[in-house]
Amino acid sequence: MLVGIDLGTTNSAVAIWRDGAPQLVPNALGKELTPSAVSIAKGGQTWVGEAALDRMATHPADTVTSFKRMMGTAATVTLAGTTLTPEDLSAMVLRSLADDVEAFTGERPTAAVITVPAYFNERQRRATRRAGEIAGLEVKRLINEPTAAALAFGLTDRGDREPFLVFDLGGGTFDVSIVEMFEGIVEVRASAGDNRLGGDDFDDILVKLVEPMLAGGDALAVMPTDRRRALMMLAAERTRRALSSAEAADFTVVVDDTPLTARVTTEAFEEAAAGLVKRLRDPVIRALRDCHIDVKTLSDIVLVGGATRMPVVRKALTRMFGRFPNATVHPDHAVALGAAIQAGLLSGGDGLEEIRITDVAPFTLGVDTATRDQHGRMHDGIFAPIIERNTPVPVSRMERFYTLADNQREIGLGIYQGEARDVKHNVKLGEISAPVPPRPAGEVMVEVRFTYDTSGLLEVDVTVPATGLTRNLVIVDEEDRRSKKDIEARRKLLEKLKVHPRDEAENVAMLARAERAYEGFTGHVREFIGRALTEFQGALEKQDPRIIADAREALGNLLDQLDANSPL
Ligand code: AMP
Repeated sequence: MLVGIDLGTTNSAVAIWRDGAPQLVPNALGKELTPSAVSIAKGGQTWVGEAALDRMATHPADTVTSFKRMMGTAATVTLAGTTLTPEDLSAMVLRSLADDVEAFTGERPTAAVITVPAYFNERQRRATRRAGEIAGLEVKRLINEPTAAALAFGLTDRGDREPFLVFDLGGGTFDVSIVEMFEGIVEVRASAGDNRLGGDDFDDILVKLVEPMLAGGDALAVMPTDRRRALMMLAAERTRRALSSAEAADFTVVVDDTPLTARVTTEAFEEAAAGLVKRLRDPVIRALRDCHIDVKTLSDIVLVGGATRMPVVRKALTRMFGRFPNATVHPDHAVALGAAIQAGLLSGGDGLEEIRITDVAPFTLGVDTATRDQHGRMHDGIFAPIIERNTPVPVSRMERFYTLADNQREIGLGIYQGEARDVKHNVKLGEISAPVPPRPAGEVMVEVRFTYDTSGLLEVDVTVPATGLTRNLVIVDEEDRRSKKDIEARRKLLEKLKVHPRDEAENVAMLARAERAYEGFTGHVREFIGRALTEFQGALEKQDPRIIADAREALGNLLDQLDANSPL
């Protein structure tokens, strides 16, 4: 079975194509969004999703989120002695989503369409593919998130060719894309963004806003920094969500039994967030400028990502575009639903018109060159773009370069991807060189042709017209050469981790929640929670599903009561 997956920075979701429509698949807790979070304890006990996120407050050093940001880098994370790559962590989320599909449909998915941000470079795309493979899923296609959103919003069914803008503000990233649909072809005309801007930044602002207002904050001040931050950020997120539907909300953290509270009004929050809201403008302007599209010709402004539910963001958009944005599809679900539509298209689902999707090169591709200044000094390592970002692919472009030294015998070129003038700040993809006949500087010319296709392969041809010599290089990412064996090895490693079986997910999440509550209190209440926890653990040991269900409900009710009594 082929499924559609939104592998997000904050949350992930999976959807299937069923009875002529996309359908989201709930996780073991009955929720459609699974936090992209992993937590591992000593001994290899592993939590993925909601329960992992709950452990963030109690075990921040063993828990990781936002690993999508590290995709395509060599970064690793060590959790309780186990070292994992961003692909491994993503694979764990993917596997948990595949488990959910299996539980929902009775069939194990074997293949997936996975969405990636439009700006993801080749390395990041390949890392995503590998994550799928480690999770045991054949990645049939990676599609851009805005394209998936366009499919979900049904914008691809319209006959007109007017471009629309996809505004995607998630938990930690912000992406703007201009998408156009023409004769059955969807094209991302331009994309821009800020991969350090999202809901989390609004939480940060809120924390800064309330910190001086929290009476008795001394208890907070003596807490270990990472614990304090996790606690404050969780409370901030709750408050921010509450502010999406009320004029004011209480920010509350419980420290040593004592609730510390501050009241935040929408007005104060919006004032504090003004700087962040301003930062939303730049990528919009950049994307429009890159594809030479006037804001007036946009037919729609489509909202994607949970953080677009903040009224402060919607107001800013209405002002920016002079009209109301389109939120007819749940902004958190749009990308997964679109991925499922693409899955339906690939498996020849009924009722789907043929749609082809074209891509743009997400980054500029070029070579390093050198120039001589007026004093004759050489400056090397300067980037010379050949294929500019946001050029529709497939594309083939040629540029000419000349020798710089007398009697130079070889021209060597580094191949780079990025936007910086200094190649040091770009990503090096490879090198190519060609022998040239020794002549005075500037007399020998080479032609460098870049051909970039939809599968993401970059082909570089260097021709020396003076000798007729041609050199060719196909850039395949180093990482990509890692053999199937390597993927198999990663898969084996992950199998050793004791991921809680899916049918225990509710119990695992309840334990994590109770432990978090336990840490939040002291004295009697803490003792009380401790006893309830022991009782629940006792029930789990009995292994009788009915006893466990009753005990879980009892513990849940108790925790609900504590939540209800908190002044939030
Ligand atoms: P995503 O990465 O698209 O799953 O978006 C997650 C972000 O959306 C997080 O920062 C959430 O706090 C935020 N979010 C979800 N629901 C709401 C809401 N009702 N109001 C404000 N922010 C929300």
